[in-house]
Amino acid sequence: MACVSYPYDAPVSQSLYDRAAVVTPGGVNSPVRAFRAVGGTPRFMVSGTGPYLTDADGREYVDLVCSWGPMVLGHAHPAVVEAVRAAVARGTSFGTPGEGEVELAEEIVARIAPVDQVRLVSSGTEATMSAIRLARGFTGRAKVVKFAGCYHGHVDALLAAAGSGVATLALPDTPGVTGAQAGDTLVLPYNDLDSVAAAFAAHPGEIACVITEASPGNMGVVPPRDGFNAGLKRLCEENGALYVSDEVMTGFRVSKAGWYGLDGVAPDLMTFGKVMGGGFPAAAFGGRADVMAHLAPAGPVYQAGTLSGNPVATAAGLAQLRLLDDAAYGRLDAVSAEIRTLVTEALAKEGVAHRLQSAGNMFSVFFTDEDVADYDAARRQEPFRFTAFFHEMLAQGVYLPPSAFESWFVSTAHDDRAVGRIAAALPPAARAAARATGAEEEGA
Ligand code: PLP
Repeated sequence: MACVSYPYDAPVSQSLYDRAAVVTPGGVNSPVRAFRAVGGTPRFMVSGTGPYLTDADGREYVDLVCSWGPMVLGHAHPAVVEAVRAAVARGTSFGTPGEGEVELAEEIVARIAPVDQVRLVSSGTEATMSAIRLARGFTGRAKVVKFAGCYHGHVDALLAAAGSGVATLALPDTPGVTGAQAGDTLVLPYNDLDSVAAAFAAHPGEIACVITEASPGNMGVVPPRDGFNAGLKRLCEENGALYVSDEVMTGFRVSKAGWYGLDGVAPDLMTFGKVMGGGFPAAAFGGRADVMAHLAPAGPVYQAGTLSGNPVATAAGLAQLRLLDDAAYGRLDAVSAEIRTLVTEALAKEGVAHRLQSAGNMFSVFFTDEDVADYDAARRQEPFRFTAFFHEMLAQGVYLPPSAFESWFVSTAHDDRAVGRIAAALPPAARAAARATGAEEEGA
């Protein structure tokens, strides 16, 4: 993107990025971090406090990424830091069962009625991979339905038409996934129940499960239409398949009981991650007791992990979840609404066509004049406007997801001062979005 000008350079981040690129493919350990979609130097962060991140060049940003969701209380929350400090002092991993795992599982089961039992794992990818294996083992069927634009981690069978980095980098499908691995995946358009009914009709007795993001955030925020999740559950029930709701992003973020707490549609299996780990690698899948009973060692479906239920991760997750009460969710919803209003006002003032879409306290902006209900519509937006908007926000000290296909995240720590800084950054960013023509990116 040679012609885009970046108002502030970041020499220390750049030199770290240069070093990283020598020893790590693309210089990062997860693709979207590399700023490929927006160009420029990815910021190497050195610390975080509350709603702020500080980069290696000493610049402070209001953080609207929150580690892609987990940091729902803000960075370095004292109660989480203290719980981690105490856990580390007792030892970092035992490879045996421990009380923290029981407490975290009890907390999840208590919050989410359809979850009778959970199994703890270390990443959202592991959670969705294991949930699908269990669904196949339970039903004795092979096929899995997923939706275009939904991202469920980098599980081989689920990378077809995935959102998140796959959308950001415009990867059609990834090399390394064989036809056999993806051959049992049926990819359907999101928010289209007729196509799900047609898939069940075309493959009678073959579909093990339908997996969906409870409310997608990985193609930007595209909430389910009224009745979509309920329709999925009904079609699954009628056809002997399991309804698997991926709440890795929405879980414990949009309400005490995640998206289930907002739409009340009870899945057979659910997956969790992000918030429940308090910034550490902890995730889970869980659901109906009769289904979970098929999991080893209770049943024949194998699943395991050396660091599953790690005592430091469970301590961080528990400390975070225990602070997420009704008041905390009220605060998240309020600050999200406040920022959404500021963003639309700023863009409208400059006459920039956009749709600000939200799902609970998650939201994102599409630079388009149509409502976005599926992945095709998400891809019809004008990403070059996002690029200009992103870089001006960055220059003004606000850190947005470096992609037009990701949710923005707030925390309970986003106070009036942080919101004031966002408000001040928005007018020049909206002007930059209005000015953008796409020609800036020629020569990329
Ligand atoms: N499922 C959803 C809905 C996600 O948003 C993500 C990650 O962004 C995953 C699964 C994968 O989680 P992880 O990155 O922890 O493997």
